[in-house]
Amino acid sequence: MGQNFLVDRNIRDRILDAAEISSGDRVVEIGPGLGALTSGFLERGAKVWAVEKDRGLYRVLTENLDSPNLELRLEDALRLDWEEWLPPPGPYKLVANLPYYITTPLLFRLLDYSGLFNPMVLMVQKEVGERLAAEPGSKAYGALSLKLKYYARVEKLFNVSPHSFFPRPEVFSQVIKVAPRSEPPVNVKNETLLLQLIETGFGQRRKTMFNNLRRAGFVGEQIEKALVHCGLGLQVRAEELDLADFACLAFSLQDWKEGETSG
Ligand code: SAM
Repeated sequence: MGQNFLVDRNIRDRILDAAEISSGDRVVEIGPGLGALTSGFLERGAKVWAVEKDRGLYRVLTENLDSPNLELRLEDALRLDWEEWLPPPGPYKLVANLPYYITTPLLFRLLDYSGLFNPMVLMVQKEVGERLAAEPGSKAYGALSLKLKYYARVEKLFNVSPHSFFPRPEVFSQVIKVAPRSEPPVNVKNETLLLQLIETGFGQRRKTMFNNLRRAGFVGEQIEKALVHCGLGLQVRAEELDLADFACLAFSLQDWKEGETSG
């Protein structure tokens, strides 16, 4: 269950500072573990909702962190109905040293609760943090970076060495800040198509956008028109395109899709 506990007080405080935790804040924590961060939230006067999946840790926490400001729940964060559990109004600050194996599905699930969690300060595997925050042209840039950019602003804050945990993980960690957007940064008629184009574009990373779209069933002539319309060369690869480029392609190919259905 990705149980590497934070034992470095300095890093703990930097995380609390990054989330600007102060008295009266409403904080959600996923995977409180032995309570390293949880105790920090409580010391700063926040009210905390923490969800832990491990029954043994849940029991230890209940005994060690008895506070009227702590709501502890034994459950899988991926299955929890957050709106049913958290009293309105939001937003809640979400702070977590995330179990690495659930980072991506959990992050996108949390973003689905449009703005309920804002901001999110997350400790993730460094490599995942790099991918989430990557810009076009870099090695780490991919479908994940683009999809997250559509929903949120992402900022890399600092790296954390394996020495800050017990037991030590094999990899470095990174603390990132994710602020959900109230409006998407680009305009598209069909969000599903945009996300599909992003996935398709990176389907075979070394192939051109043209070839990847062809493989996904788009017609050559339409792809060519769309690329030209968006000012892109026929040899362009997904890794060179930013979100605005994908939005433009989605706009152009959408018309064709509609034409195809009505014709
Ligand atoms: N927050 C603690 C710390 O910083 O020391 C523990 C972090 S540890 C990396 C991840 C924690 O998430 C563990 O306590 C683990 O039991 C818990 N966990 C793993 N999967 C979970 C899930 N699906 N839902 C809730 N908690 C989970």
